[in-house]
Amino acid sequence: MKRAADDPNVAAPSLDVKRLREDFPVLQRSVRGRPLVYLDSAATTQKPRAVIDAVARHYAEENANIHRGVHLLSELATTAYESAREKVRALLNAADVREIVFVRGTTEAINLVASSYGRGRVGSGDEVLITAMEHHSNIVPWQMLCEEMGARLRVAPIDDRGALDLEAFERLVGPRTKLVAVTHVSNALGTVNPVREIVAMSHARGVPVLLDGAQAVAHQTVDVQALGCDFYAFSGHKLFGPTGIGVLYGRAELLEAMPPWQGGGDMIASVTFEKTTYNVLPYKFEAGTPHIAGVIGLGAAIDYVQSVGLDRIAAWEDSLLAHGTALLEALPGVRLVGTAPDKAAVLSFVLDGVHAHDVGTILDQDGIAIRTGHHCAQPVMDRFGIPATARASLAFYNTLEELEALAAGLRKVAEVFA
Ligand code: PLP
Repeated sequence: MKRAADDPNVAAPSLDVKRLREDFPVLQRSVRGRPLVYLDSAATTQKPRAVIDAVARHYAEENANIHRGVHLLSELATTAYESAREKVRALLNAADVREIVFVRGTTEAINLVASSYGRGRVGSGDEVLITAMEHHSNIVPWQMLCEEMGARLRVAPIDDRGALDLEAFERLVGPRTKLVAVTHVSNALGTVNPVREIVAMSHARGVPVLLDGAQAVAHQTVDVQALGCDFYAFSGHKLFGPTGIGVLYGRAELLEAMPPWQGGGDMIASVTFEKTTYNVLPYKFEAGTPHIAGVIGLGAAIDYVQSVGLDRIAAWEDSLLAHGTALLEALPGVRLVGTAPDKAAVLSFVLDGVHAHDVGTILDQDGIAIRTGHHCAQPVMDRFGIPATARASLAFYNTLEELEALAAGLRKVAEVFA
């Protein structure tokens, strides 16, 4: 995650991508008679065999409900579930496993904070500060909260490259700001936000910060203690893990002070009709039977990604981004949307005279899978005055050849519409 303009000819870091691709069954398949070129990892990443096997093994060998059982299978499932929590803690370098709450995904994590933290802290006339590049899931929960509490949603602007205007951001952190919620990496533009500075500026005014890490965790090392953030949210399915599972990291002190979000089994210490007392962290926030297999699969995904090495992944993706950027910039009629100096391997673009959906549909005929539309970031499209972009989003299993296939496909699209 460095500069989009880096030299594509720099020595490729040591990652045996060809070998690693063999770990992903779906990457071996063909689509419409052509080898699959999967360039939609920001929407969801593909799953390595290790994750698929871990989920299947759980169901085949140790399926049971967790925490409440005295029998062996329940003990095994509980151990697997809780050891995945420790893997998440280590991945994020959180101080304590009590700070790791399993949820359905980034969306649910943000809704949990908006609801449990927000309702208690944000009142009439207060403000919640986000940026102009947020995914809908880091807009709408805050909008709903603000509507309910009579508070105001403030939005820090971005420039024409899609980079955050940090000075404007700082000016917007005011005496009424009760929470800052910012994406670590933008899914629509690829912008990597200066999250350390954002946290420092916000904390200097006593304002806690939630970071939306949906697009970050699979692409770079994340250290929540070094970042200093108060909440960090991500989804397992964007980290080579299963769908339906995600994580909310929250500083223990804040989580302790927050009321439970949902009520039900497992989140209680004792229940009578007169009064219920709540379980300790993190169980206070995990009502009901969780997605046990999903958590176990996420644990396997973390093992896998760490065996590949997040630093090596980041370096390889930088090379892919530089190569892809150069290829697309050389194509007549292509305009990249999102050219921030600090960028992740996301190539959002428009092609003159061709609707993004047509670009995607024609590329699909050649087995090339990209995303088209507003990417759940309609305000970003409005900011750039466009209805949609075509987006190729990369992961470490992508190759330079696949980027060349994309460029060749785009030349074909341009010819069709010439
Ligand atoms: N935030 C960002 C930046 C995203 O890219 C996404 C999904 O694309 C989300 C949040 C929502 O993630 P999920 O749908 O897994 O909850």
